[in-house]
Amino acid sequence: MKRARGTSGYGAAKRIHDYSYAILNIAALAGQYESTGEPVIRLNIGDPTLYGFEPPPELTRACIAAFGRDAHSYTHSCGILPAREAIARDAAFRGIELTTDDIVITSGATEAADMLCTAMLNPGDEVLCPSPCYPLYAALISRQEAVCVSYTLDPGSNWLPDPLEIEQLITPRTRLLIIINPNNPTGAIYPADLLSALAEIAERHGILCLADEVYRKLIYSGAHNPFATFAGRNLPVFTLESLSKNYMAPGWRTGWMSITNSRLVPDIRLALQKLAEARVCAPAAPQFAIPDALSLQYDYLLPVINKLRERRDLTVKMINAIEGLSCGTPEGAFYVMAKVDLSLYPFASDEEFIVELLRKKRILCVHGSGFGTEPGDGYFRIVYLPDTSTLERVYNDFEDFLRHCR
Ligand code: PLP
Repeated sequence: MKRARGTSGYGAAKRIHDYSYAILNIAALAGQYESTGEPVIRLNIGDPTLYGFEPPPELTRACIAAFGRDAHSYTHSCGILPAREAIARDAAFRGIELTTDDIVITSGATEAADMLCTAMLNPGDEVLCPSPCYPLYAALISRQEAVCVSYTLDPGSNWLPDPLEIEQLITPRTRLLIIINPNNPTGAIYPADLLSALAEIAERHGILCLADEVYRKLIYSGAHNPFATFAGRNLPVFTLESLSKNYMAPGWRTGWMSITNSRLVPDIRLALQKLAEARVCAPAAPQFAIPDALSLQYDYLLPVINKLRERRDLTVKMINAIEGLSCGTPEGAFYVMAKVDLSLYPFASDEEFIVELLRKKRILCVHGSGFGTEPGDGYFRIVYLPDTSTLERVYNDFEDFLRHCR
């Protein structure tokens, strides 16, 4: 029988209808300007290499050396053994017990998150997700026809979540709690007592935890507390890490997932193994740089952190000096959620503000509602990776733009 082929006959799958990635969606208009030769300052995407940061040379050398040897072959689906051994050693050093079988090396943390959602979520399952949230998670959850249940990151308390609220949101369908620390889009760092409270709630309710720690080395003071160190013996935690941010190599598409207390989740472990095998392996060459990455001394990061701190401080100072704009002080990563007081300006929503800023000043940020804040709240995310003179120009342009909008 001949099948009818209207526009709907060739339609995309329904599960993709709600699939959206605001960080890149908003970039389409910027792309139109750029294609006519008009430069746009892109403060929308967290790629440090666009702003002069580079992977440590040791890692690039390890990658190139691998191309000269054995990186032309498929690797083990869960990643090369020396890399998994290095990850397990690094975890042990930080108080986390793992075997090499608890680790899957992936095409970035993105693939690890995708594999975990596919391995464990059934339609209708509920996932506790921060709001605002890095948009990947809402997209992955909707793709599994599961339900994203948002818990609040409160701007009034440095964007920290409230464990009581999280506990109240738990239902019999809740399967997973997502914790992003250091946080994108807020730049918040979670203190030990908060993480311990979240682990206690998750364990008591039998909920699995995903700890996204892809920014764990990019913090401005103190030490990072890995969520897995609060897991005890009875809470399974899936931790995501990556070479993308901590080692400034996002294009290498190399990350990993490690499972703490994997003995409690044998079925999910097996499902992950099958998914890893079905996509064969992560890119081979950068896997050979993982042992080098994990044995680097802290010195490699110092100049990076110092530059980022300077850029953050300038951002916080200049944004708060502009009438109608405000922001708190992020403690990690390279993002800040700023707020425009929409009652002072003729913008109906955060997105309208962002689009007008792009139209008038050729500066691209992402509206907060792309991360899940209310459009009327006026939040927007700034990536403060550019050098200080560029940032100064940007924030002077913000001021000029807003002055002419009143
Ligand atoms: N998790 C968070 C919180 C991120 O911000 C990003 C990228 O921006 C990722 C995961 C994706 O990392 P990867 O490049 O390793 O896929």
